[in-house]
Amino acid sequence: MKLCMIGTGYVGLVSGTCFADIGHTVYCIDKDKNKIDKLNSGKYPIYEPGLNELIKDNHRAKRLFFTTSISEALSKSDIIFICVGTPNKKNSLSVDLSHVFKVVKEIAKFSRKKKIIVTKSTVPVGSGDLIEKILKNKKKFTVISNPEFLREGEAIRDFRYPNRIVIGSNLPNTFKVMKNLYLPLINKGAKFFTTNRNGAELIKYASNAFLATKITFINEIANLCEKTGINVEDISLGMGSDVRIGSRFLRAGPAYGGSCFPKDTKGLVSIADNAKIDLLLVKSVIKSNEKRKTLLLKRIDSILGKNIKNKKIVFLGVTFKPNTDDMRGSVSLFMVPNLHKRGAKISYYDPTGEKKEFNKLKNCNFFPNIKQACMNADLIILHTEWDEFKSLDYNKIVKNKKFILYDLRNLYSLDEMKRKKVKYFSIGRPSFNQLQK
Ligand code: NAD
Repeated sequence: MKLCMIGTGYVGLVSGTCFADIGHTVYCIDKDKNKIDKLNSGKYPIYEPGLNELIKDNHRAKRLFFTTSISEALSKSDIIFICVGTPNKKNSLSVDLSHVFKVVKEIAKFSRKKKIIVTKSTVPVGSGDLIEKILKNKKKFTVISNPEFLREGEAIRDFRYPNRIVIGSNLPNTFKVMKNLYLPLINKGAKFFTTNRNGAELIKYASNAFLATKITFINEIANLCEKTGINVEDISLGMGSDVRIGSRFLRAGPAYGGSCFPKDTKGLVSIADNAKIDLLLVKSVIKSNEKRKTLLLKRIDSILGKNIKNKKIVFLGVTFKPNTDDMRGSVSLFMVPNLHKRGAKISYYDPTGEKKEFNKLKNCNFFPNIKQACMNADLIILHTEWDEFKSLDYNKIVKNKKFILYDLRNLYSLDEMKRKKVKYFSIGRPSFNQLQK
């Protein structure tokens, strides 16, 4: 089949490349010329494990093309995927659909033949109806919802072996086309699930809000564990072994972040508000997650003392999770400027390199390796659990023998830290060190 992905970001680029890899011809479009030029000259705009090789192979095999010309790509494609961003509106919970609508207007302008339009972007319930209204000529276009569930860092595997493929359409005869499109994955066991268009749109928001709730729940339990000397990992294990609960997303850590959970929980509340439904639970989750960021700072005060001026604080990892370069919604975006404002000297190392988000902060420096970043640390904050941090011997790396390690991901074993005499704090686990008053 011939497809075009409008929006060559984390979702459009990964799913476009993977569609090409299962034999389709794919045109990836983006308005960002720089991004398209990079891709056409063999450079890669994002970090996602395994993606570069896959792009190279499929580009070379002439199944994958990159262009800024929407008219050219539309004329060559039968199915059009909308993969542009759907952030929250400024100072609002509601979803900004301006990128989606702009794309739809361009599709209406440049399409000559019958087309299937698929929203892969996460869009509020009823967006498909609004898109149809913009398209006016409903007969020429079929609008389908196919929400994307891939996780950054594991995106290729998630595309190839999805838990489910959700297709929402109000015209059941279109399910066959979408089934054919995904057939190589369905033949390997992927569940193909169909519903109406509004249903598919809601499945995506409900899934993300539920996962965010699970994380927030265990984070609150971790707070209780810290006060009562219980190990939250025992609670996660004890709870998660119950198949009704399940062990995934029950690992305590910093607040949830990323490009999806923060905006989608808010988006869901706004969708429900419009329908005059009060989603009390999701509202509490958002509130608890926000509060958690401040709680982490308070915890740093009790670890380091309130006067952090000139204290050397090091962040290991600043992205919202490992195996991605994505900074959107990362807790570091809250913590670093806060600590910096209070006079701390910040150093950071991230396997995906320096971050433009911190460029403007004067006493905040990127170091290209762990050793240089940590050498003079008073406090090391293990922010993101990259594999390369798992076996570090901090006693050998850090010159200041009084350094403290605050592990936001419970990456290290308490016994090991005790044995190595590291002053160590983690999340929801008993501490063998004294906190400052
Ligand atoms: P992104 O910001 O990485 O990519 C969006 C791309 O769209 C950008 O490259 C931008 O330049 C391009 N774009 C915007 N307007 C355009 C236009 N008019 N014409 C052509 N290109 C245009 O966003 P993303 O992370 O890929 O997310 C896209 C959608 O997928 C969002 O709705 C998001 O919620 C959803 N989603 C994201 C993930 C994820 O992990 N990132 C997972 C599932 C679903």
